[in-house]
Parts: sequence; structure tokens; C-alpha cells
Amino acid sequence: MKVGLVYDPIYLEHDTGDHVENSRRLVEAMSYLKETGVKERLTTLPARPASLEELEMIHAPEYISYVKSKAEKGGGWLDPDTVMSPRSYEAALYAAGGVMVAVEAVMKGEPDNAFALVRPPGHHATRDRAMGFCIFNNVAIAARFALSKFNLNRVLIADFDVHHGNGTQDAFYADPEVLYFSTHQYPFYPGTGWMDETGTGKGEGTTVNFPMAVGWGDEEYLRAFKEVLVPIARRFQPQLILVSAGFDPHWADHLAMMRVTVTGFVQMAMILKELAAELCQGRLVFTLEGGYNLRVVASSIKAIFDVLLGSSEIEDPLGKASVARKPEGFDERIEAIKVIHHLEG
Ligand SMILES: [Zn+2]
Repeated sequence: MKVGLVYDPIYLEHDTGDHVENSRRLVEAMSYLKETGVKERLTTLPARPASLEELEMIHAPEYISYVKSKAEKGGGWLDPDTVMSPRSYEAALYAAGGVMVAVEAVMKGEPDNAFALVRPPGHHATRDRAMGFCIFNNVAIAARFALSKFNLNRVLIADFDVHHGNGTQDAFYADPEVLYFSTHQYPFYPGTGWMDETGTGKGEGTTVNFPMAVGWGDEEYLRAFKEVLVPIARRFQPQLILVSAGFDPHWADHLAMMRVTVTGFVQMAMILKELAAELCQGRLVFTLEGGYNLRVVASSIKAIFDVLLGSSEIEDPLGKASVARKPEGFDERIEAIKVIHHLEG
């Protein structure tokens, strides 16, 4: 297996100061990949900036020029959660471009799959608005790029970040060519993502939301993947699978209240890898979204690279949460989602 890594030091120049979404997330992840010997087993793919034309597949021209001029004026707050520095516009261009580099390489079959370690993240960014630490919607731009550049007509985006990817959902809500599947804590930021949000018009049924109650963990996530994502993906027959990988559902993440472990992320990644092998010649591209506990982010990224490389033993240095949990209401939830999406019992 050849596994691609997209990374560029420009991602560190998106300077957010003491904000939880800061450059230490990538610094620690990269040094852990080096320390553990994983990095030398990966094929490094150089990032590139997204072109204006590419950004405009998802974003309004006025919004793009607003972000650019804000950077030229020294940066500042784009929304109550999202701050930028003078170099953030450039970093954001390379974040979107980085995911496209990964997609292009994987579509050409070299490497087999890839993980783009980019920031700023993207899944909350809408057509004309920065939201939730996101400036441009990297995964949405990459999906559109894959559709147009490689003449695809079915791309699956799986999003296991703890927050609902409202921007990604919006971008493809009426679009039958992109199936968006998301697991997320609910109710929670940004407020969207209830299970009755299923798409509209020709896109009806290609938005699949799996809202998760506080305290659910590996067992619930894996059932959501096996019993909902897998049959829906088989029905949709994607030609490429993109993953919005956020590590904030981990029990040790301080922003959210779920109980997923590193081992849980590994099992989700294995399911995605098997789906890609079964349905689309293994074409699978991960991109980094959230995750704010530095140790969790570094260990989870390394563990996912282990999955992509086909390693047999994968370490979970953080283990399980110590406090007992009460996963009430899950059976009712998954049954309701199966009914909404016409899945068998
Ligand atoms: Zn998140």
C-alpha cells in the first residue's frame, strides 16, 4: 500500500494565537509521525494553492475577496469563533489546494490513499461565510474538483467530526452527485444536522445525518457506520470516498462530550478503507477537520495512517474513558434513521 501525506509548513502560518484551533495541532502530529517512524513510510505530496476558479465552485466571489482583503489589512475576526492572521488567506488557499492534491494523486492511483493534514479546517464554511474555525470548505471544494476534473458523478463524503458539517451539507443539499454522511453530537454547535435533514429536490436522500446523544461512544459510532453508512454507501456506489476526519468525538477532547477512543477511530477508518476497496478501487482521502486535545489528535492521525498502511497492531495510548456511561436511546435513534433512509430492519 502506498499512502500519501499532504502537509505544508504554510499551515502553521495561519496564526490564531491562544485559540484552541492553533498550529500546535499540526506541529505535534507531524513530530509524532516522525518519532514513531510512520512518516518515512508515507509518500509526501506537496500542497498547492487553490485557484480562484476552484474556490468559486463552492464560495461566492465577494466572500473570497473579503477574506483576501481582511488578510491584507492584518487579519482579525471573521465570525465570533473564527480568527485570521495576515497569512491566513494564503494558508487557507493551500488547505483547499492540499485536499485537491490528495484527490488528484489518489484518482491517478499513486498513492493508493491519502491523508491531507491541513488547517484551517473547512466543514463549517458556507458559500459566503466563515464559521466555526473554518474559512474555505476544503472537502467540499475537493469533491467538486473530483466531479469536474475526473468526470465522476458519485462522491461520498463521510464526516465523523463531533460537529455537524453544515457548510458541506449546504453545498450539496440539492446535489445527487455527492452523498454527505455525518455523525455528530446533537444538539450542539452549529445547531444543524437533525436526522430529518435529508436533502432536497434531486438531492433528496443524499444527505444522511446521524445525530448522537451526549455520552455515546465507540459502540454507537460503529453501529452507525456498519448499519447505516455501509448499506447507504453500497446503494450509492461512490467512485471516491472523502473523509472529514475530526478527532473531537474523543472522550478526552474538551470541546465536546462524546466517548470515542483512538481504537474507535481506527475501526471507523477500517470500515471506510474496506468500503473504498469494495466500491471504488480503494480511492480514499482523509482530510483533517477538528480535534483539540493535542495528544488525541497526534495519536489518532498516526493510528489512521497505520490503518491506511495496513499495519496489524495499532496502539491506543489514551485508552478508554474511566467514568461509566449511559448510552440510552440509541436503538430508537438508529431505527428511526433506517426508516427515514429506507434501510432494511
Ligand atoms: Zn469539530
